[in-house]
Amino acid sequence: MSIAENILKIKNEIPENVKLVAVSKTKPDAAILEAYEVGQRIFGENKVQELVDKYERLPKDIEWHFIGHLQSNKVKYIAPFVSLIHGVDSLKLLKEIDKQGAKCERIIECLLQFHIASESAKFGFYKEESFDLLQSPEFKTLKNIRIAGVMGMATYTDDDAQIQKEFTNLKSYFEEIKEKFICEETFKEISMGMSADYKLAIEEGSTMIRLGSSIFGIRFYTKFQ
Ligand SMILES: *Cc1c(COP(=O)(O)O)cnc(C)c1O
Repeated sequence: MSIAENILKIKNEIPENVKLVAVSKTKPDAAILEAYEVGQRIFGENKVQELVDKYERLPKDIEWHFIGHLQSNKVKYIAPFVSLIHGVDSLKLLKEIDKQGAKCERIIECLLQFHIASESAKFGFYKEESFDLLQSPEFKTLKNIRIAGVMGMATYTDDDAQIQKEFTNLKSYFEEIKEKFICEETFKEISMGMSADYKLAIEEGSTMIRLGSSIFGIRFYTKFQ
């Protein structure tokens, strides 16, 4: 099927309240434009330079999400235009996003990334660490960031029960944070689910799925590149 057909099919399958992030990393502009032409507006990238280049070349009403591991020294390149940063996993990074947000007079929306997988390679907070951050006086001074929700990646496995458990954990962190620390309407997103596991993620309460290969076809790279 074509990119356009894939998008329309997926949109048709998923509930209306679930946002679709089309993960276009490594894909050319033409592929992005094909998705754009059938109404797709949210795209996700995981490399700063690639994101900046695509932002400059492509239509300005695209909402660009940064979904990868973000280094503090590169925040300044995406701060002027990025719509959502999915992978915030330290106070240091959050402070830098706040600083760059202030420079461009923006409030930058961020998701806290949680470590939910059994693999050690995946980034993210453990629950207690995130609670420490949310309670810290330093966090409370940050005015140019807004925590819009949480994000996580499940283990890459065929074991549905395990994936389901990891997604349930992420949802429970979201609920606990909402109850104890960020009781606001704007704290609302649970970014979970990729091509292999998005149906399970939606069953477990995902509000945002990040799909690459099921839209654009396989990438000739390893999964997390
Ligand atoms: C690449 C990537 C995706 C999309 O992966 P697919 O398996 O191609 O759907 C989603 N989230 C993150 C963080 C990624 O790096």
